[in-house]
Amino acid sequence: MTLPRPNVAILGGGPGGYEAALVAAQLGAEVTVIDEDGLGGACVLTDCVPSKTLIESSSTMTSLSRAASLGLELSNGANPEVAVDAPALNARIKALAAAQSHDIAEHVAAEGVRIIQARGRLTGPHTIEAAGTTVQADVVLIATGATPRALADGVPDGERILTCRQMYDLAELPEELIVVGSGVTGAEFAGAYQALGSQVALVSSRDRVLPHEDKDAAVVIEGVFRRRGMNVLGKSRAEAVHRKGDSVVVTLGDGRQVTGSHCLLTVGMAPSTQGIGLAEAGVKLDPRGFIEVDRVSRTSLPGVYAAGDCTGVLMLASVAAMQGRIAMWHALGEAVQPIRLSHVASTIFTDPEIASVGVSQAAIDRGEVAARVHKQPLATNPRAKMGGFRDGFVKIYARPGTGLVLGGVVVAPRASELILPLSIAIEQNLSVDQLAHTFSVYPSLSGSVTEAARTVMEFGTDAIL
Ligand SMILES: Cc1cc2nc3c(=O)[nH]c(=O)nc-3n(C[C@H](O)[C@H](O)[C@H](O)COP(=O)(O)OP(=O)(O)OC[C@H]3O[C@@H](n4cnc5c(N)ncnc54)[C@H](O)[C@@H]3O)c2cc1C
Repeated sequence: MTLPRPNVAILGGGPGGYEAALVAAQLGAEVTVIDEDGLGGACVLTDCVPSKTLIESSSTMTSLSRAASLGLELSNGANPEVAVDAPALNARIKALAAAQSHDIAEHVAAEGVRIIQARGRLTGPHTIEAAGTTVQADVVLIATGATPRALADGVPDGERILTCRQMYDLAELPEELIVVGSGVTGAEFAGAYQALGSQVALVSSRDRVLPHEDKDAAVVIEGVFRRRGMNVLGKSRAEAVHRKGDSVVVTLGDGRQVTGSHCLLTVGMAPSTQGIGLAEAGVKLDPRGFIEVDRVSRTSLPGVYAAGDCTGVLMLASVAAMQGRIAMWHALGEAVQPIRLSHVASTIFTDPEIASVGVSQAAIDRGEVAARVHKQPLATNPRAKMGGFRDGFVKIYARPGTGLVLGGVVVAPRASELILPLSIAIEQNLSVDQLAHTFSVYPSLSGSVTEAARTVMEFGTDAIL
């Protein structure tokens, strides 16, 4: 006798939704994904993939700007210039995002998943309605993501007052870009557009950029921004953004005004959880509108799971994908380990990049975690000298006594790649001793990881810094 295949319905086709669909299909479920914009979700179509594609171009500009210091001449002119072709740049970004979305849709469909391109809403614990179709399911996953917030007195018009999703429709590079908000998205865009040639002002309500990130790393990035000519306005809350002809005027809390050609609002993300039947069906939302979930992605409504930005757990593609997979493993009876947020590696794609994993310096400083800390400056690394990189460091935290790696921060070019040894160390319970005895290539930036581990070891791991 063959048992009936369980039905799974997934609302939202971003990393939270499509990764869950793949797992559920592999486990033998009949899976339907309902998405209104395209598979890959906002991650692929408007957020993560487009912004990182933009940053690949801006990083190349930064590399070219260092050419003279490396003994290279770009042209015979006294001031060699590389021009940005904004339409070509944006067309490449959008084409790449569309192609990635198409590849994901093909992959998901090849696994036998039904895709409905429409807006859907939950009409009961086991039903989603979309485009006149009722999808019945034993298990429902909500993965509807989030959308950029605006200011009460600063509404995006898609022309000069923009969200991060509207930047790729610009026909020209913004001449003077005011970025409101100095969190991860604000810092990434401010750095990228400055490298491409825009005059950038970064409005930060706090006393430093990246207020929620490692302080040492934020200090490095703010220093780099200022050295490259960015106007960083600290302790400056933007109250209003208005258009004045072909300009935008940002009014700060103390009455000062900043004028530019364009304004990019990066003031956070709001969960896409309204008007889709969640509260009516009995799915509990927190006061900010995020869906409440436990560590295996269960909502308050039995049989209904949620994953990704709509849960507000950690707004990262990797976390969304893991929450989605965990939901399916749990719902379909597989052995499952609850999500471990302390193991999540993340990167801020500024130049240099900031990558971190494990415990934070802030938690150590607050006395919540006992750790030995060593910070190895990048400037002493031979490969960094060859490349002309002087901003950055590798920081490792180790448990006193055992020397187990608890976390770390890497500020360097391609720190997103360099963080992996520390992630592996945390996942596999490795000590700084084991890391220090691992061969790194000479010369390499990863040599600073093993050197930092060696230094923590030499200092001994029994004392707390
Ligand atoms: C500018 C920017 C850069 C980022 N860069 C990175 C990065 O470098 N690395 C990283 O890890 N994360 C990054 N993120 C975060 C990352 O994009 C999100 O964490 C990720 O997209 C979350 O995935 P998700 O599946 O929850 O939702 P999303 O990717 O937002 O997908 C949700 C999908 O659901 C659909 N949907 C919503 N409501 C409905 C409905 N009612 N019916 C049908 N479909 C619906 C939407 O159309 C969308 O396709 C970035 C975010 C931003 C804003």
